[in-house]
Amino acid sequence: MAEYDLIIIGGGPAGLTAGLYAARANMSAVLFAPGLGGELLNTDLIEDWPGEESITGFELAQKMQAHAEKFGLKIELKGVQQVWSEKDRKVVELEDGTRHSAYAVIVAVGGEPVKLGVPGEQELHGKGVSYCAVCDGAFFKGEDLAIVGGGDSAFQEGLFLTRFASKLYVVHRRKEFRAQKILQDRLLAMDKVEAVTPAVVKRIGGDGAVKWIEVEREGKTEQVPVGGVFIFVGFKPLGKGLFRKEHIEHDPNGYLITDQYMRASIPGVYAVGDTRAQLAKQITTAVGDATTALIHAERYIEDLKHAERALPAAPRERMPAVAERLEPIRVMAGQTIIREGGEPDAFFIVTRGKVGVYQREGGEERELDRLGPGEFFGEIGLLAGTPRHATVRAIEPSELLRLDQETFQRLVSASSATREQLESVARERLATGARR
Ligand code: NAP
Repeated sequence: MAEYDLIIIGGGPAGLTAGLYAARANMSAVLFAPGLGGELLNTDLIEDWPGEESITGFELAQKMQAHAEKFGLKIELKGVQQVWSEKDRKVVELEDGTRHSAYAVIVAVGGEPVKLGVPGEQELHGKGVSYCAVCDGAFFKGEDLAIVGGGDSAFQEGLFLTRFASKLYVVHRRKEFRAQKILQDRLLAMDKVEAVTPAVVKRIGGDGAVKWIEVEREGKTEQVPVGGVFIFVGFKPLGKGLFRKEHIEHDPNGYLITDQYMRASIPGVYAVGDTRAQLAKQITTAVGDATTALIHAERYIEDLKHAERALPAAPRERMPAVAERLEPIRVMAGQTIIREGGEPDAFFIVTRGKVGVYQREGGEERELDRLGPGEFFGEIGLLAGTPRHATVRAIEPSELLRLDQETFQRLVSASSATREQLESVARERLATGARR
């Protein structure tokens, strides 16, 4: 099994951006995707990508790929079958059956618009058939257009299309729409908008470009002349389907739920772009998601490694949840981190710099120890439930990882080996202190 620090799944704008940042950070990373470009390839012209007034989806996809590759991103054009957690790693199984593992995974697999599945839809895709009004609407200025669907997406994108359409048909299979009332009121009140219900689209036709749609309404077939048809009969996010062995939080529509750092509910798993529950499915937001996720994932991986080095006896499967709770802290030379007699509320791992351990005796302060990268402190009070037995102060500018008391206690109660490791260090420190 090939081992990496990070695996990126998906080759659209989100995946390629995460890959670009990973390559620039010189991380041990790989990107798996069956193809590159994602939804960009379903978009003819893009006019809302800052810096490019107008660029084809294909061209932008190529530029993003070339940019990531220039910085040395390893890309493998292979589809991913499934992902699961194994100890402190995520295992990624590819469609060819091979397995690869990493400390963190960024899921950037997007999704796909649900298709109507009628004749003409596939042939005229990009030639008048679209699944994105924001992307393509401006190319249909002054034309008669149709939207298909009765949900929020159809109505919201329909409202956008009214800026360009001379007439807009809302074609829906039922008389009632499921879209929010406010959206219905706004769209249907416009003179240029006409509801075609209950009507089922049977065919989309035209000679090289859309010219009409054929609908069946109350037993009769009619042809509605339009220059473009925008289909919004649902979007199927694909990220959730990768997790078959363990639950990952998602909303009722299958979008993965994340926090502000793009962390999904499984520690070490990030979700970005169209597969994540969020407001907008845009290239700009996907790219922003990926940047946030990558920067956080890089930190998470480093923190996890630090914690595992400091606590070698801790069970590996517990460490992702511990690493997620670690809070990085920077301290200046002379800054006090914990104070003798204070409440024990956290455990600390030194990752950079040097700290001193001091105890007061008869009004004098004496130095008990000096700790550097890889060493920890704060365990004595937490294990014994007693006030801090010493003060710890930075000797030079230092960086620490702080673990809250609750996560620390959870770890030591789940692992007797970890407790023993910490108790043995604590005993030695107390004995050294008593000898001095
Ligand atoms: P949706 O709510 O599932 O609506 C899909 C629409 O397509 C429904 O009207 C459905 O008809 C119709 N449809 C489904 N399959 C069809 C088929 N084969 N042929 C013809 N029509 C078909 O999907 P959505 O509008 O993409 O919204 C997805 C979710 O995102 C929803 O929860 C929505 O509230 C949310 N969303 C929210 C906002 C917002 O502004 N807050 C904006 C966009 C989306 P029926 O009504 O007959 O089932």
